[in-house]
Amino acid sequence: MESSAQRRLIEEVANVVISHADELTTLDQAIGDGDHGLNMKRGALAILERLDDLAAKPLPDALTAAGQTLVMKVGGASGPLYGTLLMTLGKDLPMAPSRDELARAVGLAVAAVKKIGRSDVGQKTMLDVLGPVHEELASGGSGLVDRVRQRGAAAADATVPMKAIKGRASFLGDRSIGHMDPGARSASLMIAAVCTVMED
Ligand code: ADP
Ligand code: MG
Repeated sequence: MESSAQRRLIEEVANVVISHADELTTLDQAIGDGDHGLNMKRGALAILERLDDLAAKPLPDALTAAGQTLVMKVGGASGPLYGTLLMTLGKDLPMAPSRDELARAVGLAVAAVKKIGRSDVGQKTMLDVLGPVHEELASGGSGLVDRVRQRGAAAADATVPMKAIKGRASFLGDRSIGHMDPGARSASLMIAAVCTVMED
């Protein structure tokens, strides 16, 4: 990926997190401890601080470095989980990935999140967006970028009626029902930002 496109990708993803930090916090206030917006914003700012350095690296190295930054700088469950997602992508993505190679690397990255989260799809977490988005990506075909974006948004909405089985929200039991999962929302926002850059 060209360094200017990579810079734009990093900026879009970081900025969507920063501009939605209050919304993410509100969601986490309903079923968690109210820090998801702050956690994600801290990570986004730490990544923007390294923007020149990250934009100049080959894509796999940039993903690995961004993931390490998240693990180091972001408290809460989401830092290590998103950090692992990016570090695994960095490890498994070739320099100029084809669509199939991208889908494969995303699949491995989602599996790595499941492993360190001891979690799976269906438990009202970020995985309820990451899993379906990987599935959509792997299905290929035409209009893929738009389909991936829509699948991510629909999957985040679909966490509303779910009961949380992992993470802090699980402490609420049935009272977690009726609220969107904060991590599902942040995942769908970041995926939409990636899609925006891919479309240009
Ligand atoms: P914390 O829960 O430590 O306060 P955050 O508020 O930043 O951390 O992130 C909460 C989000 O992290 C949840 O909404 C959920 O999507 C995700 N999450 C929490 N635990 C897990 C897990 N074990 N596996 C996958 N995702 C998880
Ligand atoms: Mg929280």
